[in-house]
Order: sequence, then C-alpha cells, then structure tokens
Amino acid sequence: MFKQFYDEASSTLTYLLADDASKKAVLIDPVTDNIDEYLDFINAAELELVYSLETHVHADHITGGGKLKRVTQAQTAVSKACGAETADIQLKDGDELTFGTEKIKVIATPGHTPGSVSFLWRDRLFTGDSLLINGCGRTDFQGGDAAQLYDAIAGRLFSLPPETLVYPGHDYNGRRVSSIAQESLINPRLANKTKQEFIDIMKNLNLPKPKMIDIAVPANRKCGVPEPQQG
Ligand code: FE
Repeated sequence: MFKQFYDEASSTLTYLLADDASKKAVLIDPVTDNIDEYLDFINAAELELVYSLETHVHADHITGGGKLKRVTQAQTAVSKACGAETADIQLKDGDELTFGTEKIKVIATPGHTPGSVSFLWRDRLFTGDSLLINGCGRTDFQGGDAAQLYDAIAGRLFSLPPETLVYPGHDYNGRRVSSIAQESLINPRLANKTKQEFIDIMKNLNLPKPKMIDIAVPANRKCGVPEPQQG
C-alpha cells in the first residue's frame, strides 16, 4: 500500500508505505499539523504504524514524528548526523528497516544538510530535499555543502536503475513524482553539469531565509515535541 499526502502550508510531501499482509506501516516526513489526516487513514485501513522516518531536520515545518509516537508507539528515526538526540533510532548509510515483509533502505545523501538521507523502497526513492523534481535542496544554511550534494546525487542516486521513481520531500509546482532517468536527463541544475558548474549554480541562487527556520530546526531536533517537564 502506498499513499502520498500534501501539506499546503509548506508544500511538503509525506508518504505512507504499508505491508499488505502484516498491516505494518511507515510514514516518511510527517507534518505535525496533519497528524489527524494520517491517523484517520491509518485507522480506516487498520494499519499499525511502526516507524516515523525523517529525511533530515527540516527548516520549513515541524515534524509530526514525536506526536505520532505518543499516539501510536511508532519509533522515530532520523540520521545520526542530524543531531536529533531524542529520536529512537539514529540512522546511518546502508541501514535497513523492516516492516512486515517489506524493507526500506537508507542511502546517505548529505549536502542539503549533513544528515540528509534518502530512503529506497522497492523501485521507489524518497529523496527528501536532496533531489527535487527539476531541482534540489538549497545548500546555503544548516551546514549545507554543494560539493557533497553533487556527489550524493550525481554519484549515488543517478547510479540507481533509471526506472526508479523519485518522490521528493517538496514540490512547489504541483508535481508529484519523477524518475532517475528524467532527473539525470533534464534536471537543469544537474543534467550534463560538472561539479564546479553545480557549485556555481548553488552559490548564486540568492534565496530568502525560510520563515520557519528559527522555530522549526530546534523543534525538529526533538522530533517536534518539547521534552517532558522535569519535577
Ligand atoms: Fe529541508
């Protein structure tokens, strides 16, 4: 089972994957404001949420991982390099998470942030803000590094089978899915670009600071929920 959710406020794409036999399910990049929508779907389909995964510590919205854990017992998982100490699982490159008979694999794709990862499930790749449709995540804050991002995308992701479907963490233009073939052929930042050309493109984007960054980043290091009160 596969379902894509969309958050209007931040243009975030959230994904639910489930094993049909065991009904065990995984969410990728849940948004805190949309928890009820996910839970309604999970309950209607009689699923058991076992993992809430993050592709990175987001700067533009607050994760729903911490809240979902309180309601469903789902374990939260974030890359070790993200500095989110309250997450149950600290992911690293090559890790595999199992839900029922299904497996999801972690591919480290640093560059947008040092802890950014992509998740591969069957022929579907969830790229967070590393590789976007016709674009890529910005590299001008949160420890971003354009050279690293080029190596991650051109070196690792573009070596996956061309028919692999690409599901990004955001799209601001109504698009919902791409493929490795399409991105490696026509992504204007990466197709036929050298590493130096890519670095120059990224250096000259002149993007505004995200509105939510000062609230979202510290909150997301704690899975989106404040720590329990002491005493
Ligand atoms: Fe991001």
